[in-house]
Amino acid sequence: MCGIIGYVGDKNCARILVDSLKTLEYRGYDSAGIVVVNGKLEVKKAVGRVAGLESQIDYSTFNGTTGMAHTRWATHGKPSVPNSHPHFDQSGTVAVIHNGIIENFAELKSGLLSRGHVFASETDTEVVSHLIGENYSSDSTLEEAVAKTLPLLHGSYALGVVSSRDPGKIVAVRKSSPLVIGVGKGENFIASDVPAFLAHTNKALVVDDGELAVLTPRSVEVFRRGKRVKKDVWKVTWTPEAAKLGGYPYFMLKEIEEQPATIPRVVAQNEAGIRRVAAKLKGAKRVVMLACGTSRHAALIGRYILMKDAGIYCDVMLASEFSHFAQSMDRGTVIIAISQSGETADVMDAVRSAKARGVCVYSIVNVLGSTLTRESDGVIYMQAGPEVGVAATKSFSATVLMFSLLSLALQGRYRKDAKGFVDGAAALVKKTIEDNRGTVKALAEELKGSPAVYFIGRGINFATAIEGALKFKEISYIHAEGMPAGELKHGTLSLVEKGVPVVTINPADDTYEETVSNTMEVRAREGLVIGVSDRPNKIYDRFIRIPEGADPLLYPLLSTVPLQMLAYYVGVARGNDVDKPRNLAKSVTVK
Ligand code: GLU
Repeated sequence: MCGIIGYVGDKNCARILVDSLKTLEYRGYDSAGIVVVNGKLEVKKAVGRVAGLESQIDYSTFNGTTGMAHTRWATHGKPSVPNSHPHFDQSGTVAVIHNGIIENFAELKSGLLSRGHVFASETDTEVVSHLIGENYSSDSTLEEAVAKTLPLLHGSYALGVVSSRDPGKIVAVRKSSPLVIGVGKGENFIASDVPAFLAHTNKALVVDDGELAVLTPRSVEVFRRGKRVKKDVWKVTWTPEAAKLGGYPYFMLKEIEEQPATIPRVVAQNEAGIRRVAAKLKGAKRVVMLACGTSRHAALIGRYILMKDAGIYCDVMLASEFSHFAQSMDRGTVIIAISQSGETADVMDAVRSAKARGVCVYSIVNVLGSTLTRESDGVIYMQAGPEVGVAATKSFSATVLMFSLLSLALQGRYRKDAKGFVDGAAALVKKTIEDNRGTVKALAEELKGSPAVYFIGRGINFATAIEGALKFKEISYIHAEGMPAGELKHGTLSLVEKGVPVVTINPADDTYEETVSNTMEVRAREGLVIGVSDRPNKIYDRFIRIPEGADPLLYPLLSTVPLQMLAYYVGVARGNDVDKPRNLAKSVTVK
């Protein structure tokens, strides 16, 4: 979850590093630190925000042309200045930043202690810096010292290493933690994520597990077990502006409102790739979708689309629960794994155990070159552009539409209909946003003091109900629960009394009448009924209108967008940091 950035080049890099670190803030962190190589290693650390770190830096004196910065999400030792990265070796020559966990750190640390090492922090990371220092004899290079240390480490890591003895160099390695390299002109970068260096270069190279990279201002060399490997350099199509607020108060609002623009981009796909996935689904004995959180809700909608539209039945499994079912997966199974970041630890774990059983894994991912894309048999890209707000919004709509595209491919209609379908969807989403801005803002004022809000729906609209509730609770911090409308009377109805808000997702599909009946159960207890539909009904106390005449398979998308807006406006009305809701991180790289 933490953020890593490193620079080696001709420019003074302290400000570059701090600005880049700001683009990684969305990942979630509790403290930050920076090191520059300036004859010696100079360092600043702070608990809390990057802005706090920056306030300690005088850019006219704190500088160097090689450096690294880090946002830490504490795993070993509390968030504190000594525990913040970088960490140093015994001699203070080597500095290390780290994302991940060194599982055998205790054993390694006791060995180092017995050899007289003194530690400045409680972290697992500091053990790595001390070990590299030990292996960094006067006749070895920094990369040799790092390479010699790696076999000792168990666990996951993306590491950036610099040394005052070798000032124009960064050594970086990765194992099960994200790491990309930005290839510039006379300058090169390491980072956890592409937007961190996008203001400087759009050329990226992905470091794979077990590889070691050596960066100097004019070269990037990647090695595997001491042998040089040739790597492809990718051109990133995202623009630096896409990861900026562009006048919006929050990324979440920007990302909700830009959906009419991001949705049509889903067709910028490798058509042959989509066809290949479709063909594989057709021949599969069993199809399983693996995801967590909002991606899982998109998968539930996808399951419905594939079943209704293309006759493919599939299961949806929570990635974190997959291991309990893994034994029933075999070579006849096809998995579709979904992750915006492509780094979700629960998804990666499930994918690895499925692959070990010979299962074929396709993935739907937003972030280019992420771990999931490297380990899948095929990838469909969401093409949503960088999503910075922790709450998934535009990646949700892209995923839902990806299933429609797959369905069109399964029916042999992709070439003829895909573009028209997504353009039509984008126009309807635009209208939904425009029609509901005022309504939703007013409703947010009304709901901001509610102790709890319930969301109900049937059929495909059930997935909308649980997604609406998830978005609502994570952003507003108000208890919210989504459930199939038919389940209300089996328990939750006991909580409905005068004024309790119940959002009923009730578009004019074949669930309409039955959902009206369940909504009547709420009215009879004087709950506040908020209808989401294209068909008005006098049973609604408040009404969120979605456009009439839409393809019923678009209902989930059209109903979810105003619920994203509702969550946003309630969160803002309550004074929450909607882009970084408490206790949550964008890229959940721990299990
Ligand atoms: N395990 C390391 C620590 O607790 C790194 C945590 C991170 O990934 O930020 O310092």
